[in-house]
Amino acid sequence: MRFCSLGSGSSGNAWLVESGGTRVLIDCGIGPDRLTARLLQAGADPSRIDAILITHEHDDHVGGASAFARRHGIPVYATYGTIQGAGSALGGGVQLREVEPAGRLTVGALDVLPVPVPHDAREPVQYVLGDGALRIGVITDLGSITPHVVASFSSLDALVLEANHDADMLRLGPYPKFLKERVGGPYGHLSNAVASRLLAAVAGERLQHVVAAHLSLKNNTAALARAAFATALGCTEDWIAIATEDGLGWRDVSTARV
Ligand SMILES: [Zn+2]
Ligand SMILES: [Zn+2]
Repeated sequence: MRFCSLGSGSSGNAWLVESGGTRVLIDCGIGPDRLTARLLQAGADPSRIDAILITHEHDDHVGGASAFARRHGIPVYATYGTIQGAGSALGGGVQLREVEPAGRLTVGALDVLPVPVPHDAREPVQYVLGDGALRIGVITDLGSITPHVVASFSSLDALVLEANHDADMLRLGPYPKFLKERVGGPYGHLSNAVASRLLAAVAGERLQHVVAAHLSLKNNTAALARAAFATALGCTEDWIAIATEDGLGWRDVSTARV
């Protein structure tokens, strides 16, 4: 099983997860031409993607989905609320498959678990993907930690976790007051400190990869996110990967134990 990022942050998010010949995108907030270029760069044929899983209707997650899905005839999976909230962003003849929050589904060789999360969208979920032996979880937009999130993202083999902002940089930074309150609120985005608490709560012995994602360009730095996650895990900082707006190369997740 392996995964890579084709872009992460407010300029557009997309993850590619692959196992047993099945390839799925989690989110598609990148325009179809840029996404195609990045897929080819990653050695992935854009016409051989089996599904697009959408987390929620914010433009940085859904903006490129309809055009890309139509171009390649790829089915798009999303919750009822996300489909309603996305409106025309998931319209125009896209093959839509409704996802039940917390209802498991299968796409080829992959088991998909949509996990309901607190975030300021209609019916947002984040995803855990497994192939029977290994499980990868991706959490990119989360306002606060819930017991269900901790239970769902525990004991994974790889975790992508939002490290949106440093609380002091957000407080002192350029955003208007209403936006600071939204981003830092319980339906906004995870700070480095809160994400680190979640990381410490869910990290288990199987964990092979931790990737900090969805970093704010104005309210965070890679160094702060990396230091916070390394402290939470008691590991060296070079063990923490960062997904930037340009993405992150393939990470292999394997059953082999060192
Ligand atoms: Zn969002
Ligand atoms: Zn987002």
